[in-house]
Amino acid sequence: MKKIAVLTSGGDAPGMNACIRSVVRSAHAHGVEMLGVMRGFDGLLARSFHPLQPRSMANTLQRGGTILMSSRCESFMLPEQRAAAYLNCKREGVEGLVCIGGDGSLRGLLALGTEHGFPIVGVPGTIDNDLEGTDFSIGFDTALNTAVEMVDKLRDTAAAYDRVMLVEVMGRQSGHIALDVALACGAEAVLLPEITTNVEVLVQRLNASAERGKHSQIVIIAEGEKQGGAVEWEKRLEGKVKTPVRFCVLGHVQRGGNPTARDRLLAGRLGAAAVEALVQGRSGVMVGEINGKVVETPLPECLRQHKPLPHDGLSLLGVLAT
Ligand code: ADP
Repeated sequence: MKKIAVLTSGGDAPGMNACIRSVVRSAHAHGVEMLGVMRGFDGLLARSFHPLQPRSMANTLQRGGTILMSSRCESFMLPEQRAAAYLNCKREGVEGLVCIGGDGSLRGLLALGTEHGFPIVGVPGTIDNDLEGTDFSIGFDTALNTAVEMVDKLRDTAAAYDRVMLVEVMGRQSGHIALDVALACGAEAVLLPEITTNVEVLVQRLNASAERGKHSQIVIIAEGEKQGGAVEWEKRLEGKVKTPVRFCVLGHVQRGGNPTARDRLLAGRLGAAAVEALVQGRSGVMVGEINGKVVETPLPECLRQHKPLPHDGLSLLGVLAT
């Protein structure tokens, strides 16, 4: 393999730059030429390929976002557009593709690889941490720490007024961020996309904990919770809960910021592993880290379902919130 391209696609995640850097410098170590594709799959269609040298990666390791930029590319859902993308890669002399992204991006990547026998390797880059085949995805740790910092601040102000603070965090289809933020912040409850919350049970729980003497209560709500986000829940709880209720939507702040050391380390290992897989002639896999070891898992296995939540998370939250 003489030339590889790398792109970032879908929701951006802190640590994507650290991973691009690792891909570029690992490829260099193997004597492989690297091209960066701008704006994800859009760039494959627009032939937006740019040479990347080890020195092009200076000062990127610690930066959030992605220097290659990202996109949601509707037309990549169409086989004929993926065929055009494949031909563009061929014209550039690209022999393998690394895609850093979430489940949607890796689905697109798998389709491209399968339809054209094109060597591809996926890297899990998403704050959602919902991909099978890795314990953590790049960006999750940073997003979690950002959210925790914000919720700690909200706890201070909630405690000054005996308030219930509803905090909406990211997670349209999976509750990994919400559950871990809740546990790390000592939240009184968490509302998840995976589980239907009974309004009366939640009201009783909040009132009971106020009666036990709590001066502040935090409820973490995943944005994909089925009965609406924090705005809806404030209306639903107002008047039923005995203490005042306020809401805060954390939004895109969770995507930004310098990646944590953990995300940088993961990005470094997985970028190198992605190049290694392609150079060794392996394709159709996602690289991940399980129990501290780098592993390769066939992409269909990683995409079969959203990674389930840890089974003991909710019961632990209940115990710790007493
Ligand atoms: P993420 O990768 O963060 O999950 P999206 O779900 O928005 O983000 O997917 C990013 C892009 O991946 C989409 O805009 C589209 O170009 C491509 N994609 C997603 N699903 C598919 C699919 N089933 N087939 C082909 N391409 C897809």
